[in-house]
Amino acid sequence: MIDRRPSVVVRCLTASDVVATVDYARENGLGLAVRGGGHSVPGFGTIDDGVVADLSMMRAVSVDPGTRRARAEGGATWGDFNAATGEHGLATTGGIISTTGVAGLTLGGGIGYLARGFGLSLDNLISADLVTADGRQVVASATENADLFWAIRGGGGNFGVATSLEFQLHPVDQIYGGPMFYAAKDAGAVLRFFRDFIETAPEAFGGFPAWQIAPPLPFIPEDRHGETMIAFVACWAGPLDEGEAMLKPFHDVAEVVAEHV
Ligand SMILES: Cc1cc2nc3c(=O)[nH]c(=O)nc-3n(C[C@H](O)[C@H](O)[C@H](O)COP(=O)(O)OP(=O)(O)OC[C@H]3O[C@@H](n4cnc5c(N)ncnc54)[C@H](O)[C@@H]3O)c2cc1C
Repeated sequence: MIDRRPSVVVRCLTASDVVATVDYARENGLGLAVRGGGHSVPGFGTIDDGVVADLSMMRAVSVDPGTRRARAEGGATWGDFNAATGEHGLATTGGIISTTGVAGLTLGGGIGYLARGFGLSLDNLISADLVTADGRQVVASATENADLFWAIRGGGGNFGVATSLEFQLHPVDQIYGGPMFYAAKDAGAVLRFFRDFIETAPEAFGGFPAWQIAPPLPFIPEDRHGETMIAFVACWAGPLDEGEAMLKPFHDVAEVVAEHV
């Protein structure tokens, strides 16, 4: 999908490697792209004839269950993050796909299943360690370089390379949810129902409807594989024993052809 040819790809292992990469690009008049999880649809994680700072080997995540905080390196994915925080029954708003980068998603906003309860990913960002374009290592938080902290929360990778990001976590031990598939003819009923339901749904309920070509997965009847369907993906992060009742109206609104809840 993206066909760009950088001159140099630097596979950074440390923040010092990132500083050296930024300095090299600046001193040689080359453009710089930062690659985290590599999920930028327009391809902002790479560049023609410039330098790519590839952070995909900087993926460590540490968790402090006492303060309910986690720190993720700049190339960590949401899969890395959730695996580390989940061990402590903690989570924050992150991407719906495990291979999306924590940094790229957070610096652009960050919408996920937990957003109705805990806000966007960037609302849970406490601080970031950044390398700025002049090669300095700085901390951005509400109390240090507050203007930079304001800018990175929505400004994407334009204000510095995040070598690590610190997040507020919340108690989320288990969730009840998964995808439900309906025939395309039921799309109107499903979408109208969701529009009204979500207005008053508890904040622990997250989810989204999507047009989806039914994939060849075991829980979908074989004769429906490849069919365009309306799907709803639900995530209930409240008390587990309330999950089934919470999703019941999604079963009443139309026939569920297949589900993996
Ligand atoms: C399959 C898929 C699922 C998605 N799901 C969601 C979702 O659930 N919620 C949501 O909000 N968005 C979602 N997105 C959008 C995604 O959050 C953005 O495309 C995001 O920019 C991807 O970040 P990345 O690190 O994976 O990508 P990259 O291509 O590596 O980087 C994207 C941008 O972020 C910058 N960047 C990355 N890492 C750093 C860093 N350490 N420091 C500074 N800048 C950095 C890059 O320079 C680039 O401009 C999804 C995208 C895809 C393709």
